[in-house]
Amino acid sequence: MCRPPASQSTRKVIVAGAGPGGLLLQALLHARNATSSVKYDITLIESRSDLGKLSPDELQAHRSWMIGLSSHGLQAVRSLPGLYEKYLSDVGVLLTEAYIYLGSKKMGGGTTDKNAPEGFIVDRNFIVAALSRYALENMSDSPFYRSKYDTEMLYVDHANHRVLVRSKETNAEEYVHYDLLVGADGVRSTVRDALVKRHFDFELQLSDIFQNFKAVHIERPERVSASSISLLPASLPHFNGICLPETGNLINMSFGFSRNNLDKVDKEIMSDDPKVVAQYFKDNFKAFSLTEKGYTDLAEQWVNQRWNRTGMVHCNMYHSLPCKIILLGDAAHATSPSIGMGMNTALRDAQKFAEILDRYEDDFDQALPQYSKERVPEGNALTDIALNLYCFDTGVGVRTMILGLVRSILHYLFPKLVGAGPNEILARSEFTLSQVYQAGNDQGILTKHREINERIRRETFERQTGMIVEKPKSSFRLYAIVGAVLAGGAGTLIAMK
Ligand SMILES: Cc1cc2nc3c(=O)[nH]c(=O)nc-3n(C[C@H](O)[C@H](O)[C@H](O)COP(=O)(O)OP(=O)(O)OC[C@H]3O[C@@H](n4cnc5c(N)ncnc54)[C@H](O)[C@@H]3O)c2cc1C
Repeated sequence: MCRPPASQSTRKVIVAGAGPGGLLLQALLHARNATSSVKYDITLIESRSDLGKLSPDELQAHRSWMIGLSSHGLQAVRSLPGLYEKYLSDVGVLLTEAYIYLGSKKMGGGTTDKNAPEGFIVDRNFIVAALSRYALENMSDSPFYRSKYDTEMLYVDHANHRVLVRSKETNAEEYVHYDLLVGADGVRSTVRDALVKRHFDFELQLSDIFQNFKAVHIERPERVSASSISLLPASLPHFNGICLPETGNLINMSFGFSRNNLDKVDKEIMSDDPKVVAQYFKDNFKAFSLTEKGYTDLAEQWVNQRWNRTGMVHCNMYHSLPCKIILLGDAAHATSPSIGMGMNTALRDAQKFAEILDRYEDDFDQALPQYSKERVPEGNALTDIALNLYCFDTGVGVRTMILGLVRSILHYLFPKLVGAGPNEILARSEFTLSQVYQAGNDQGILTKHREINERIRRETFERQTGMIVEKPKSSFRLYAIVGAVLAGGAGTLIAMK
């Protein structure tokens, strides 16, 4: 199956994007130099500055959103010995408890099951800083590694296998050549544009997740355990929420609504007056109460940020042999944070690509297509599950959730008779995302939600753009009556002939 080992050579690799996916892959490739007959000569290009150079105190000012790493992402990180233990383990919180709040009713608890899936909660930028520190301490003296932070990749000249970059500091532009270009440059990927231009059979969908959300970091209230995750469905009118633990006795609370409900959400939650927002949370958020300072902090942060939106990407291939490119992470499959698996999958992409190189002895002609073959089903399963496990129709969503709870009790009691729901197997690394997708489809959840969600999105788009103008109900009724009378009359005439 495998070809003879590739001859000893140096391969110039450009990793575009120092997010979690790109940083893990560059570390794995660099580690391969110790054993492989091929030497990977890596250039990292990142438009932002290097978070790994900041002190822990400075990093506090660069907090981003909290990430739940499940076994998928943790196994990927652990594929590089020492990375988790030495660089990551102390910047996040290991989960020990999980809850769901229905109003003020709290369900769930801890587990003593050693086989229970792991959960590690960490700020996105803390992971990035930790992975960058790994590179600074283990790779920066290497002749096979250089990083170009504060440098934007402007354009991929895929025919000549080079990229045009511009330094933010000097404004100087230069071309950098490559033998392999890794597009780990996120949802608005510049690398991906090369595949759009080169391959007519490359399918790309870029859309948004149809959700608006805000997130706040506040002091942990007593009722919330320091190592617990709490799901907060319908915790405010038309809003779902999630509460994650942070280091420093903080919690990260995020709340979002789907945009078809924009006209229905209460005006107080849209207010830019912190007093109004604080009072709104006191009156409506029943899961747990905050301290007076908690409400004030929450409301201040709430009004001082815009509504966040993020994008969604589907591609039908993640590689190009003529362009010598692979796509990885959000560049390939950016998705809604609803199931918390985007970074897990980005890290897995990096791990799997390194494993494939190992399997095919660094032969790109075999490794690149194999990477697409293995990862495209996972990336597309990820994006579909994240979008359609939940329903934009709140009533249907609540019914699905209740049915899911019933299913999990029945599955617990009669595991051979009732299969686990997609939610239950999602974070378990023995299941691929494609298997979760199949369970969700077989149980009718994804199929039902997909149909409703697509209809709601289409109807919202039609109304927003003015393609469809809603008519007053009375005239609709009049048209319906006139139409029915005419149709009936025509039918009678035909019957009389
Ligand atoms: C609110 C929220 C919550 C989330 N929660 C979770 C969660 O619980 N669990 C989970 O697994 N995932 C979660 N995610 C998703 C996760 O953050 C992403 O999937 C992950 O960060 C993707 O990593 P990446 O390396 O592919 O890309 P990114 O993190 O997007 O990194 C891309 C990098 O490329 C750089 N770049 C882009 N363009 C250029 C250019 N032209 N030149 C140079 N550099 C460039 C960017 O500056 C960036 O540093 C969440 C996302 C959001 C928004």
